[in-house]
Amino acid sequence: EAKAQGRNRFRFFAAAMQAMVQQRMTLETGLRTAIDNDRFEIVYQPQNALAGGELVGAEALLRWRDPVLGEIPPGRFIPAAEEAGLIVTLSEHVLTKVLSRIALWRRQGFVPPRISINIVAQQLREPHFVEHLCELLESRGVPPAAICLELTEGTLMEDLDGASQMLSRLTERGIAVSIDDFGTGYSSLAYLGRLPIHELKVDQSFVRGIASEASKRSIIAAIIDMAHALGMQVLAEGIETEDQLAFLKERHCEMGQGYLFHRPLSAEAFERLFVPCGGLPPCAAAPAARVV
Ligand code: C2E
Ligand code: MG
Ligand code: MG
Ligand code: MG
Repeated sequence: EAKAQGRNRFRFFAAAMQAMVQQRMTLETGLRTAIDNDRFEIVYQPQNALAGGELVGAEALLRWRDPVLGEIPPGRFIPAAEEAGLIVTLSEHVLTKVLSRIALWRRQGFVPPRISINIVAQQLREPHFVEHLCELLESRGVPPAAICLELTEGTLMEDLDGASQMLSRLTERGIAVSIDDFGTGYSSLAYLGRLPIHELKVDQSFVRGIASEASKRSIIAAIIDMAHALGMQVLAEGIETEDQLAFLKERHCEMGQGYLFHRPLSAEAFERLFVPCGGLPPCAAAPAARVV
């Protein structure tokens, strides 16, 4: 009896394991095919100044809608790409696509606001990452100030010395760096002041707690004050309500990103924010944000 039960349980686990392995393999194959066939889209989520509301930047976010697998969120396929050893290839793909888009906008006479790009630890470990990035920028005629790199605390703290050198080299070349999801990982506060970082992005989990949790409000206030004391700017992620916005403004947080302002937008939809058209398409008048 017990033995039979054990056998059944084993069969169940074996089947579940096999399904998991199968799923992962399908995802891996899907990823490879998607990279090869350029099936990824980049969307741009606007970032706004909190005081005046003007557009100051955007975060480039990856989207994958597979013809067979459907829409797969980055929270699922990024870890899968990491495990499959495809993350550097995928990240390279993102970098190329975003820089080419910025170059296209510039050729069209637009001055796009700063575009932030998410960078993973594996990319920083590539021996010539900074040189490579600079070559990509140069070959497209994109100035370093046109982009900002988002690194998480985990990425920085994994190899503090390596990251520190890398950040100095990026800063020397005029490339800004932002710490993403700040407050969720483990940061050495002692090092934070010594790293050349331009911006802290307060994680959404704190912003979400503004209305209900006094502790979250205190933490945000402390993060903002600390960042300012260290000469950094602060951008709050995931702003969804007017109350959250009001609190962050009162605390002198400079910038924000979230559904209250905009959802992530297609390149074409984002581009419409560059020029004040006064709601009259097509933009015939000489718009303020165009290079003359
Ligand atoms: P992240 O870098 O922290 O990106 C912010 C995430 O918050 C995005 O989710 C964005 O759509 C979402 N978000 C923005 N505003 C709001 C809001 O008001 N409310 C809520 N609930 N969510 C909001 P997304 O696009 O699903 O990306 C999730 C994560 O996947 C990103 O977190 C980033 O870690 C990763 N990711 C996305 N694109 C890339 C990429 O191109 N490269 C790398 N390495 N990672 C990426
Ligand atoms: Mg990010
Ligand atoms: Mg984030
Ligand atoms: Mg996040």
